[in-house]
Amino acid sequence: MKKKINTRLVGIAIMAVVATVISITIVYYGFFERQIRSDLEISAKLLKDTHYFESVNVDTDTIDLSTDMDELRVTWIGSDGTVLYDNDASPEELSNHANRPEIQEAFTKGSGESVRRSDTMNMNTFYYAILLDNGTVLRVATEAENIQSIFFAALPIILFITLVILVVCVIFSHLLTRQLIAPIETMAKNIEDMGATPPYRELVPFANMIRQQHTDILSAAKMRQDFTANVSHELKTPLTAISGYAELIQNHMVDEAQHDHFIAEIRKNTERLLSLINDIIRLSELDRNEDVEFYDVVDLYDVVSECIEGLEIAAERRNITLSFEGEHFNIHGNREMMRELVDNLVQNAIRYNNEGGTVWISVVGGVSPTLIVRDNGIGIPADEQERIFERFYRVDKSRSRETGGTGLGLAIVKHIVEIHHAKIQVNSTVGEGTEMKVTY
Ligand code: ADP
Repeated sequence: MKKKINTRLVGIAIMAVVATVISITIVYYGFFERQIRSDLEISAKLLKDTHYFESVNVDTDTIDLSTDMDELRVTWIGSDGTVLYDNDASPEELSNHANRPEIQEAFTKGSGESVRRSDTMNMNTFYYAILLDNGTVLRVATEAENIQSIFFAALPIILFITLVILVVCVIFSHLLTRQLIAPIETMAKNIEDMGATPPYRELVPFANMIRQQHTDILSAAKMRQDFTANVSHELKTPLTAISGYAELIQNHMVDEAQHDHFIAEIRKNTERLLSLINDIIRLSELDRNEDVEFYDVVDLYDVVSECIEGLEIAAERRNITLSFEGEHFNIHGNREMMRELVDNLVQNAIRYNNEGGTVWISVVGGVSPTLIVRDNGIGIPADEQERIFERFYRVDKSRSRETGGTGLGLAIVKHIVEIHHAKIQVNSTVGEGTEMKVTY
């Protein structure tokens, strides 16, 4: 991160220096060129105003411009384009100038100018030609460095400035990143401190998310710990009973009459252990299955009918009537999970019912398919209705154990409901009964 900020800042600085140098060179060269053109124009006009060339007529030998004007080349051209005089070369050596652009322009418009690249590549020659009153043309010219050579001439100083800027940038970005990152590091160290405000407004959502995740992780860890403690406790009770009964039998401390009872107790506790372990395994499977998509088409009416068939004996044993009504309709879901859900709800309605009670089960199709399991049993106190979905939470502990409950049934139901993106509602009054409503 620090390295990234450093390199980016240095990169930006280099780009800024290069862009500045290029634009300054272009702007400067524009001014420079305009100045040369204007100087040439002034020189040409001054020479014209002296009427010197008109006065010498054609006797060019008498022209004497032998001042120290190395930088300024003066050429005098006759109306037919022949060179009459040149202060740099002898006119006979020079070809006809009639087709030079600045001369042509001067003949037609009164003045003309042009720029040509010199033989030496890094120089440009600027020309300004002016028409004299006698029809001849006077041309002045000067050489100047072109834009590349100006750029190359300035290169050492440019490189030096770039280097200085780079050093400044490296130091500056180092300090800046340290200053920027220090509060973030402090925040990271004190992430648990919910009261601390993040150093930058932009970090508020990030800090909130991290804190939320942190809280979630802690509560998940706590839940796991509680679950492990509960599991150990739940396993320990039947195992202690089994071990105790077995020991008594082994030591021949059980008389003939009690023998069968003890064996039955061992069996009951073993079954309890098995169903507990089955539920624990099921829960951990469901934990891993949270984001599954279901494409099975399940007829809820058929699923409920099958479950009721399986539970009829248990209901009869407690003299409880099962009543089922509804229509055939399909939902998208997992058939096995649906069966588990219905099974758990109907089993609870039987278990926590009164002798001779009734369980009403109904399925309703339509836009939001619904399954309702209602009983006229013991009911659940209002303040405990939320908690019954927690793992190992039991309202009536002894009845749950007696009837083979594990305290995990509704936790499994809640999981299945969530996996199917459905909703479960509890409606219960103590002494009157309970209604569980699952809506898809
Ligand atoms: P259990 O195996 O003990 O039945 P569940 O998770 O299925 O565990 O249910 C949790 C607790 O909710 C039960 O122990 C019981 O006290 C209460 N409960 C569940 N269903 C009903 C119901 N239909 N009527 C009354 N109490 C119920």
